Amino acid sequence: MNSRDAKAVFDRISTLISDAEDEMIEMQKNLCTIPAVSPDSGGDGEAAKAAWLIERLREWNFPEPEMYPAPCADVEGGERPNIIVKLKGESDEFTMWILTHLDVVPPGEQSMWTSDPWTVRVDEGKLYGRGTEDNHQGIVSAVFAFKALLDEGITPPHDIALAFVSDEETGSGFGADFLMKNHRDLFGSEDRMLIPDAGNEDGTMIEVAEKSIAWIEFTVKGKQTHGSTPDHGVNAHKAGAHLIVMLEQLYEDFPARDDLFEPPVSTFEPTLKKANVENINTIPGEDVFAFDCRVLAGYKLEDLRSRVEEYCREVERIFGVSISIEFPTWQPAASPTAPDAPIVTALQKGIREVYGVEARPMGIGGGTVAAFFREAGLPAAVWSRMDDMAHQHDEYCLTENMVGDATVMAHLFLEV
Ligand SMILES: [Zn+2]
Repeated sequence: MNSRDAKAVFDRISTLISDAEDEMIEMQKNLCTIPAVSPDSGGDGEAAKAAWLIERLREWNFPEPEMYPAPCADVEGGERPNIIVKLKGESDEFTMWILTHLDVVPPGEQSMWTSDPWTVRVDEGKLYGRGTEDNHQGIVSAVFAFKALLDEGITPPHDIALAFVSDEETGSGFGADFLMKNHRDLFGSEDRMLIPDAGNEDGTMIEVAEKSIAWIEFTVKGKQTHGSTPDHGVNAHKAGAHLIVMLEQLYEDFPARDDLFEPPVSTFEPTLKKANVENINTIPGEDVFAFDCRVLAGYKLEDLRSRVEEYCREVERIFGVSISIEFPTWQPAASPTAPDAPIVTALQKGIREVYGVEARPMGIGGGTVAAFFREAGLPAAVWSRMDDMAHQHDEYCLTENMVGDATVMAHLFLEV
């Protein structure tokens, strides 16, 4: 395809995608009625949703889906689905992937929703329902970009592929991480990967880097006693409170800035606080709280650990308590995708064409599924245009973003 032909094909495909808006809304409605909550969050996994999706893909004459199930004893059927569909291009030099996840988080308190979280409500261009944005928007956009090429009989310049994975919300052990550990050969070193699972309102944020994550749980042990006789015990809560204030120093201990990130510094924030005693006139003998730390990749998490331990020893000395720490999450950042990697520049072009804005590569606080691919040296970019309603009550997706993102994806497939 020369560039003029490619442009003409892209225009045709764009129209096809816009015309498919009602079908896309219909697919959102269907996906939403099948809760795919992971067993760790009390659900029965993604199998039913995957079965529905496979049926649609076959009905729409997609290339036969390849299955890479991850064994999991906690769901009916004993496995978590991972699905791949591939379309051969003119060259197999690389594959342009779009990876989305099938699972959703639970709706949370149902009464906080204006309408049933498992039934899409359409209102002024917004589709409300659990999963509509995270990650159904990505799923539907990817499927309809791919379908538009198929329906027009277009052979893309390079191979293109869609991956639908399980378990993104609870660690990816049965999804992206499973694929990388057990089916690494699916992915080539020149491949490009788009993960439409985070973004901002105007579509200008392309996520290419993450911070390291350390969650730290502190258990401070003292000695419980009556509120009127503090000298008979050791107040664990008071010691814990001092430690929390002391840990504010971490901002000065690890002061580096990197303007790729928003916010541009490492963050060390007290978050969870467990209940201690039930009445006011008891001096607590135990105090448990946690910090969520997001650390710029230039720092080693080991150095954070030793610094935190020093503060703990100091508080132990001053207050006569003992403090133990645990790390429920310890995730050193993967090396970033280069800000000028082909996937990034191709995305920038597509976003400019479709949305008329300049997108820029950025870093975020971490936790996207892209890390598993970056760790293996595969350049992955996380991008979507969204209002960032993921995991919230009254989650919604804007119809125009679903259609616009599909058009950007078609632009990537066609390499216009
Ligand atoms: Zn997501």
